Amino acid sequence: MGLKVDMKEDLIQYWRKSKIITDSKLIDAFRDTPREKFVLEEDIDDAYDDYPKTIGFDQTISQPTTVMIMIQALELKNTDKVLEVGSGSGYCAAIMSRLSHKIITFEIIPELMEFAQYNLKKDNITNVEIIKGDGTLGYDKEEPYDKIIITAASPHLPQPLIDQLKEGGIMVAPVGGSFGQKMIKGVKKGNKLVLESMGYFTFVPLKGKYGYSE
Ligand code: SAH
Repeated sequence: MGLKVDMKEDLIQYWRKSKIITDSKLIDAFRDTPREKFVLEEDIDDAYDDYPKTIGFDQTISQPTTVMIMIQALELKNTDKVLEVGSGSGYCAAIMSRLSHKIITFEIIPELMEFAQYNLKKDNITNVEIIKGDGTLGYDKEEPYDKIIITAASPHLPQPLIDQLKEGGIMVAPVGGSFGQKMIKGVKKGNKLVLESMGYFTFVPLKGKYGYSE
């Protein structure tokens, strides 16, 4: 057996044909990012299944299509500073790091923070800073951010994150309860977010001050 590389190309073909992902720089970043380095050892051979996979601690690495839809919506530029809430495996940060200047990513579960750090190191990534803690509070040391992404189900968009987003900046987050969330893209205009919905998805719940209580 071994890693099924053709499944990676199959996914790319599926995205191109269905026009789900049209940004070729994003497709290149996906190609350059070894998902097999971000899953648990028993899942290495099936790293390119289009499913979420457990990474322990009741958390998951999102399915490739979902990760790509979210990153595409961020419209990343190579000068962007990005804040991510929910490092998980570090996979989403790894793809984004290839399309932006710097990623600051928060992870609330200490063991997963270390898992993400280890995986990003295996992928030789140097422009991602991982911070242990509650990302819903944002991180004012590095604000404002060009882009913000939340990779867990949020009851609503956390106000500190809206405040720390640049004017014209983009925030992407799944908003809603545990039985499915609406993927929201918000563009900041005059201190408010102009919202657009991108369909329904299912994520693990966001914790922390502006998340769901534990
Ligand atoms: N982006 C990840 C998937 C993340 S799953 C990847 O590519 O693998 C969601 C993650 O968010 C989990 O690891 C969970 O522990 C983390 N999380 C939940 N609430 C959080 C919070 N308030 N601050 C930081 N991380 C949080």
